[in-house]
Amino acid sequence: MAASGEHESLPEDPQPSVEEETKTFKDLGVTDVLCEACDQLGWTKPTKIQIEAIPMALQGRDIIGLAETGSGKTGAFALPILNALLETPQRLFALVLTPTRELAFQISEQFEALGSSIGVQCTVIVGGIDSMSQSLALAKKPHVVIATPGRLIDHLENTKGFNLRALKYLVMDEADRILNMDFETEVDKILKVIPRDRKTFLFSATMTKKVQKLQRAALKNPVKCAVSSKYQTVEKLQQYYLFIPSKFKDTYLVYILNELAGNSFMIFCSTCNNTQRTALLLRNLGFTAIPLHGQMSQSKRLGSLNKFKAKARSILLATDVASRGLDIPHVDVVVNFDIPTHSKDYIHRVGRTARAGRSGKAITFVTQYDVELFQRIEHLIGKKLPVFPTQDDEVMLLAERVTEAQRFARMELREHGEKKKRPREDAGDNDDMEGAVGVRNKVAGGKMKKRKGR
Ligand code: AMP
Repeated sequence: MAASGEHESLPEDPQPSVEEETKTFKDLGVTDVLCEACDQLGWTKPTKIQIEAIPMALQGRDIIGLAETGSGKTGAFALPILNALLETPQRLFALVLTPTRELAFQISEQFEALGSSIGVQCTVIVGGIDSMSQSLALAKKPHVVIATPGRLIDHLENTKGFNLRALKYLVMDEADRILNMDFETEVDKILKVIPRDRKTFLFSATMTKKVQKLQRAALKNPVKCAVSSKYQTVEKLQQYYLFIPSKFKDTYLVYILNELAGNSFMIFCSTCNNTQRTALLLRNLGFTAIPLHGQMSQSKRLGSLNKFKAKARSILLATDVASRGLDIPHVDVVVNFDIPTHSKDYIHRVGRTARAGRSGKAITFVTQYDVELFQRIEHLIGKKLPVFPTQDDEVMLLAERVTEAQRFARMELREHGEKKKRPREDAGDNDDMEGAVGVRNKVAGGKMKKRKGR
């Protein structure tokens, strides 16, 4: 298990009272122009974490937020910050620290969406992106900086004229993850160069010892806002498992994608290689699948995510790089193609669906090697999962086509590997394998029928 094994027990999730059910953003103290912005985003009423955190934050309290994925926690910290910014406009007003680049962009999008009518300027400072253009953006002194800790430290140390000495708000989002990624030293350094007299919001999915230590170092008399009980998965999520021999995983995956056609899928694999291989396999069968993993360049990762978000691709295959924090609102089905080795990753993965009140499905593949891991997951979520219904004879009808596509996927993967070893042959730009359709065309033009509507 990961180092974040020790937990403080969280209070049980309270049922919303009738009073809470009817609360509006205005009731929470949010100023009119921001209430209108919420309205425009279709946020008709605040979520539970927003109901708990916003009034306290507006009173000037530090906040510890323990909230499930998809709970609306970004709004819970962004709205009080924007509210305060409107009262006392100032440049370099707030800093949001996040563990990953994707999450940073996503938070920035929400700040910009909420703050567009009041002219809020945000800058994202993350690794993997040209440092010089970031320095120029920082020179313009945005109101809100959203950053991963490592790159921010680079700028604090090397970008002339940039400092956070006037900062009023610090947010640490997904603090458990920031700390588990060994960013402790960076976070300590950042805490030393920002004013002690500031407001701090710390959001975390789990309350580990490291998070508690950070809380003591960084927050003053915080209010605790917890809206999820320990490891709870959201109510509208239907969870299933499928027990299958490992050699038939691909075939069952294709069967499920056909059975649930028309939905958007996130499929989690345990390695970058398997993510890439499975994406190729599915493409060879005519599915619009796209990979997202840590071995892709930053621009390709964002490109994949954006294509999926824009619904230009219906299947996103990802490693755990995408299991936390990414806000992809329209995911209907999560497939744990490879079972997560840390059971807590299960919660984060399935948290990609059934977000913000929508319903969703999660299907976990369990092979002969995964039984113990699966039992741990059931233990963690405190329930036995039902089996996902399949017609095994129908599944087996797909086996031949899948075997053929597997063979082509392996060939493409090998070709791609060789191209990468020879960087001059324009290999650098196809690490999402969008270009690798030649073989698919061969398959499609040969024995395989093209699927309708894909
Ligand atoms: P978050 O938990 O911050 O990642 O938010 C998850 C999703 O919920 C995002 O797509 C938000 O735009 C959406 N959201 C946040 N607050 C609300 C709200 N009050 N009503 C409806 N959707 C919301």
